[in-house]
Amino acid sequence: MNKKIKVARIPWTIKLVPLVTLLSDDDNEYFGVSKHKEKVIEVAEQGHPNHVNNVLCHEIIHAIVSEYRIAALHDEEGGHDESAVQQLAVGLNEVLTSLGIDLVAVIRGKK
Ligand SMILES: [Zn+2]
Repeated sequence: MNKKIKVARIPWTIKLVPLVTLLSDDDNEYFGVSKHKEKVIEVAEQGHPNHVNNVLCHEIIHAIVSEYRIAALHDEEGGHDESAVQQLAVGLNEVLTSLGIDLVAVIRGKK
């Protein structure tokens, strides 16, 4: 299931994928990835809906930090401040959930 979004007017694609396709080269499991060159966010669709929504928000925040080049959320090595990204993601998901918005359901086209 793919859905297009825009970040800083740039089209990105959100894909809900099986967890197995997100296995990294070092066999570590991860639940989401934002591919900044390809403008693709992939999120594992398995798991508790709240967790999947948190992961989706996390990857969307990464896309926003990149496309808007938010300097304050980059670390010294040029990566993103993961702790800040995660706090923003949890907060965003909390707000959406309190409004009755299930982002994963929206991506799946069920709402
Ligand atoms: Zn991250």
